[in-house]
Amino acid sequence: EDKLSTVVKQMKPSGIRKFFDVAKQIEDVISLGVGEPDFDTPWHIREAGIYSIEQGHTHYTENAGLLELRKQICDYYKRRYDLEYQAETDCLVTIGGSEALDNCFRALLNPGDEVIVATPCFVSYEPTVHMAGGVVKYLPLQHQDEFKITPEGLKACITDKTKLLMINFPGNPTGGTMSKEDYTKLVPIIKEHEIIVISDEIYSELIYEGEHASLAHFPEIKDQVLIVNGFSKAFAMTGWRLGYLLGPSTILQAVIKIHQFAIMSAPTTAQYAAIEALKNGQKNVDAMRLAYKARRNLIVDGFNKMGLPTHLPKGAFYIFPDIRPTGLTSDEFCERLIKEQRVACVPGTAFGEAGTGFIRVSYASSLEEIKEALSRIATFVEPFN
Ligand code: PLP
Repeated sequence: EDKLSTVVKQMKPSGIRKFFDVAKQIEDVISLGVGEPDFDTPWHIREAGIYSIEQGHTHYTENAGLLELRKQICDYYKRRYDLEYQAETDCLVTIGGSEALDNCFRALLNPGDEVIVATPCFVSYEPTVHMAGGVVKYLPLQHQDEFKITPEGLKACITDKTKLLMINFPGNPTGGTMSKEDYTKLVPIIKEHEIIVISDEIYSELIYEGEHASLAHFPEIKDQVLIVNGFSKAFAMTGWRLGYLLGPSTILQAVIKIHQFAIMSAPTTAQYAAIEALKNGQKNVDAMRLAYKARRNLIVDGFNKMGLPTHLPKGAFYIFPDIRPTGLTSDEFCERLIKEQRVACVPGTAFGEAGTGFIRVSYASSLEEIKEALSRIATFVEPFN
């Protein structure tokens, strides 16, 4: 134990994992807790992976990933989001968005550099920033602002040590989105303070109203923005472990140095499957989006009817209900809900202090399961009203 590094000793277990150890011991649980699609990877994408193995594509690829895949990724970002990147210099294929995030922090942070993290947020940001020697400054997002970043909120976090801004829209755990207009107000601040933005756009395909916007859409700061994305959520490919990073070549080339020594190259089979996903998978994405939208409408309505105020998220596959009307804490609510009604959700506090009084409910489950879960939750909440 005393041989372990100080950073690792300080690392807390994930608030999600801790909770799922409890859930595993109870039978007949409906889990609205996990952050992954309930859909399996579309069959033609799986087949492309299988075929690549049959073809003997069982070797390393180029460090940055197959050029054909990088070209497909850049074409896709141009086609879907009207953003231009060069496959040869501005794109790195990684082991999930997770590796892309970790590499960015390691490539950019010196000890003591501050990273502004919009929160409640994905559980990996804080520990990976710490491992890279950075210091997290939380920017709390508010229910009444639909969990968007405001210019005032951003300004309040900036110090002379600020180096990075970590954002995630559409967001886990809130489902919050930022429109181009919302971003417009942040751009001059980011430019003035020369902040590098890491934009985790892993849920960019899961937007139910409006269009996906990115800070990279603003030419005056495009060179300050690194985009993290991947195949896990859009194409239901969590287990393939494939993601990517897009950004200015100066930073990308530094990140590739880390990737080359730590990883070599992302999994080859997954890269072939991903090429197929980008070439022929848009129809699958569109179908899954429609399914999620119907579930979202049902579940948001259900929670609001129970007297738990829930904003209608425009993206991702989570809702973030305010459970304070019950008088319970987030932890108490989730623990009692699973024990008394066998429904698993995650306490908002697992995503940072800003999640106090909220819970995260994932709707990446079938409509039938969601209906049954809603009825169980209503039974649980009833006595508090
Ligand atoms: N970013 C966010 C916001 C996520 O929710 C997740 C997964 O839950 C990831 C990144 C990691 O995804 P990947 O499977 O691409 O590593």
